[in-house]
Amino acid sequence: MNEAIKQQILAKIEAYETIIVCRHIRPDGDAVGSTMGFTRVLRDTYPDKKILLVNDDYAEYLAFCGGEDAASEKDYDGALLIAIDTGTRKRISNKNYALAKEIIKIDHHIEADPYGDVNWVEDFRSSACEMIADFCRTFQEQLKISREAATYIYMGMVTDSGRFRFEGVTGETLRLAAFLLDFGVDYESLFAHLYTEKPETLQFKSYVYGHIQITKNGVAYLYADKAMQEKFALSFEDACAIVGEMDSIRGSLIWVAFIDNEAEGNIRVRLRSRFLGINDIAKRHHGGGHDMAAGATAFSKEEVRAIIDEADALLGEYKKTHGDAI
Ligand code: AMP
Repeated sequence: MNEAIKQQILAKIEAYETIIVCRHIRPDGDAVGSTMGFTRVLRDTYPDKKILLVNDDYAEYLAFCGGEDAASEKDYDGALLIAIDTGTRKRISNKNYALAKEIIKIDHHIEADPYGDVNWVEDFRSSACEMIADFCRTFQEQLKISREAATYIYMGMVTDSGRFRFEGVTGETLRLAAFLLDFGVDYESLFAHLYTEKPETLQFKSYVYGHIQITKNGVAYLYADKAMQEKFALSFEDACAIVGEMDSIRGSLIWVAFIDNEAEGNIRVRLRSRFLGINDIAKRHHGGGHDMAAGATAFSKEEVRAIIDEADALLGEYKKTHGDAI
């Protein structure tokens, strides 16, 4: 798919001497895996080019993936910038991105801001890493793909698809995962980093389970306020992860986490669903994303209430026509 665009991207990579790779703010496993993995592939393939991975923020829980580069404004002169997994320019985690000579966007979110000179956007993909794996497979004769690079890319495929469980996972997803596994992906160590938990996290989870609220029509929600974050000494990322604790409640086809974001003075909203889309709710509240996984920002308790009410109404409507909504 999009063979011509991929060819164009490869031609640009070959033409430039300096390439800067970046991802979205508040990175997740897909953003980190795709950029770390692609950077690694480019460095191994083109040892004489200057390949930099430059982002303004990082995620503590993914620090095991290793460090990144610093770049001066001068590095952007005549450089090619590749932004991966980043739907809009507002979300690019690189304040200097516009200084680059050209931009390539590689993304799997619904297209809302084609900010690249080349835009390779495939919103049917379960992760941006799936696209990077596809790129690597397409050009496997030209590119050097190490075990380490394959492991990073596999990480994003695993995390963004909920271990190959979410909507968007296809036969092609698994074929691309298989392609990576053949490079010797170190999944034992990867999964140990991703999915073991500190004992105090488990204590927190038991508290979380006791505080989930469920609306009349079944929307599950949880508010990780400042007090809760302090009580359990949670990093912001830890607090944000609570959304995953509500994904298996029967009848709660929509679940929402609200997280006080002290640093920004607002409330981060993470919406998830099965069978029905919640992206429109996110869009109405300064956000967006995918049909069944979207993010938004609330600026007051009233806005939190409004989001819960909108989700409840949506789920109520859905249940009217879908009797056995599990
Ligand atoms: P999150 O709950 O923040 O992980 O978001 C779920 C999905 O929605 C991710 O794919 C995000 O990239 C996307 N998303 C989150 N916030 C926004 C936003 N403000 N605008 C557009 N997309 C977003």
